[in-house]
Amino acid sequence: MTESDLFRPAFDGSPIGMVVLGADGALLDANGAFARIVGRTVAALRTYRLRDLTHPDDVPRDEELRWQLDAGELPYFQAQTRLVHRNGDAVWTRMTVSPAAGGGEARYLAHVEDITEIRRAKDLLERRALYDHLTGLANRTHLLERLEGALEARRTDAHTVACIFLDVDHFKVVNDSLGHEAGDTLLQEIARRIKGAVRPGDTVARLGGDEFVIILESVATQAAAEAFLTVIAADIQVPFTVAGHEVVPTVSAGLALAEPEVTAESLLRNADTAMYAAKQRGRARVEIFTDSLRSTALNKLSIESELRAAIREGELVVHYQPIVRLDTAEVVAYEALVRWNHPNRGLLLPEEFIEVCEEANLVVPLGAFVIMDACEMIAAHPEFTGRVFVNVSTRQIGSADLTRVVTHALDATGIDPARLGLEITESGMLIATQAAKSDLDGLTSLGIDLIIDDFGTGYSALSSVLLNPVSGLKLAREFTLRLGDRGTGDRISTTVAALTRSLGMSGVIEGVESEAQRAIAREHGWQLGQGFLFGHARPVDELDLGGVDVVASA
Ligand code: C2E
Ligand code: MG
Ligand code: MG
Repeated sequence: MTESDLFRPAFDGSPIGMVVLGADGALLDANGAFARIVGRTVAALRTYRLRDLTHPDDVPRDEELRWQLDAGELPYFQAQTRLVHRNGDAVWTRMTVSPAAGGGEARYLAHVEDITEIRRAKDLLERRALYDHLTGLANRTHLLERLEGALEARRTDAHTVACIFLDVDHFKVVNDSLGHEAGDTLLQEIARRIKGAVRPGDTVARLGGDEFVIILESVATQAAAEAFLTVIAADIQVPFTVAGHEVVPTVSAGLALAEPEVTAESLLRNADTAMYAAKQRGRARVEIFTDSLRSTALNKLSIESELRAAIREGELVVHYQPIVRLDTAEVVAYEALVRWNHPNRGLLLPEEFIEVCEEANLVVPLGAFVIMDACEMIAAHPEFTGRVFVNVSTRQIGSADLTRVVTHALDATGIDPARLGLEITESGMLIATQAAKSDLDGLTSLGIDLIIDDFGTGYSALSSVLLNPVSGLKLAREFTLRLGDRGTGDRISTTVAALTRSLGMSGVIEGVESEAQRAIAREHGWQLGQGFLFGHARPVDELDLGGVDVVASA
């Protein structure tokens, strides 16, 4: 038995691809495993050179390595080489080449393993680390890398870098009412539209949620960047059908240009601050970052930290505003309205802090505080037999478990649940998540009254609002202001009053300031009202609770 007879079966049967190469890389011999990797027969392979089967990009490097092997500079070499399968696919391999022992034509022996799967997994991991999986856009990590690169490059260039922060308007409403899949589809479509509008070198990223960022690597002027933004915004606004509904996506956009010495992080933050201002100023618009925006943002930050302390230190107080019968002005209920007794700035109204509160997720502890205060007020004043209504924000419903907060307050004070009512805005009623539904149902089964606040200011279909277990509504003050216009104002007031009656619900007209408004509201069919004409919101000890002996109901 010769040596080659001994090794032959091991060679042929090896699960690892093996080839014997001649001087010019001619394939003198190959085993079955190698033949499978390239999708050919062993016999056919004997007519090839290795370079004929190698991806053209990898040929020069592999030949260079073989020269080094020939020159004795390397004992062997290992390289990740792409071979070309018969069907044209590139197959990633790990190839280990060593000099062939013995004489004859054989110059090299190569071991070849298919590592395509490993490469694929590695590529996928790299993609995951740098790209958003929903849209395929860059993620935050990749965005910051690109932004740093762009800022670095700008130092030798007359042009500047622009960072654009986009936030989809009312995305939560789509997501909550049409479902997450619809929300995802909308985000993918918006990503596609942005991608279609930018130049090849520009970066588009999604930061999660409904936030997108565009880096314009080289813009000449602020006007050029603004012009580009106008185009993008128009592209995004094309109507789009998702889950059978037509939506017209709009974005609020913030634009920041790189000043000298700005870092990637702070440029991104500036664009975010400008975007926030665009939201504040009515959405579907563009704001440019300026220094005065910076100080507004800082102010917001300080309110946020002060507010945390305020909740802890008991600086929040609740005032109560009467809800009366329009004919007799008898008080039938109160609305609890929160105020902040600020140590330096005096008594602050909700408009100064509720929004910051919502963004900082402080509305849940704030809400719990107001609900408890209202229940304590009821428990402490048996002479008052009406209801107390508390405003709840959308963010308290659902995940935050409003039912639990209310149950706790009822247990702690022992009041009759029928004495407590909650005011929820139209958009709050619209939230269709399972958690929100079960929260609203939970509250109703406790016996709590739910009413719709600021009715007419939302943009929801009446039917979807009324799917919820609501027992009443409050007409928004902006309609009260238009009473007596012999036009839309009067028509809306009359219609909503009639609607309320026919649905068997109670109706309250808000913001009644004059006797004239009171008279018109009565003519339109309103029975209950609220407004400065009947009283402002006051601390409990300034209320005249004793004289009231009316059971609140419409
Ligand atoms: P809202 O629920 O619509 O409350 C009515 C607002 O209108 C109150 O303002 C009230 O003082 C004001 N108002 C009442 N009558 C009149 C009137 O005749 N004329 C005028 N011009 N205004 C009148 P306030 O207290 O500043 O509250 C503003 C908003 O802040 C409330 O609107 C409510 O949405 C929110 N809010 C108040 N307290 C809370 C709370 O405890 N939690 C939450 N989440 N939101 C609250
Ligand atoms: Mg209210
Ligand atoms: Mg209201």
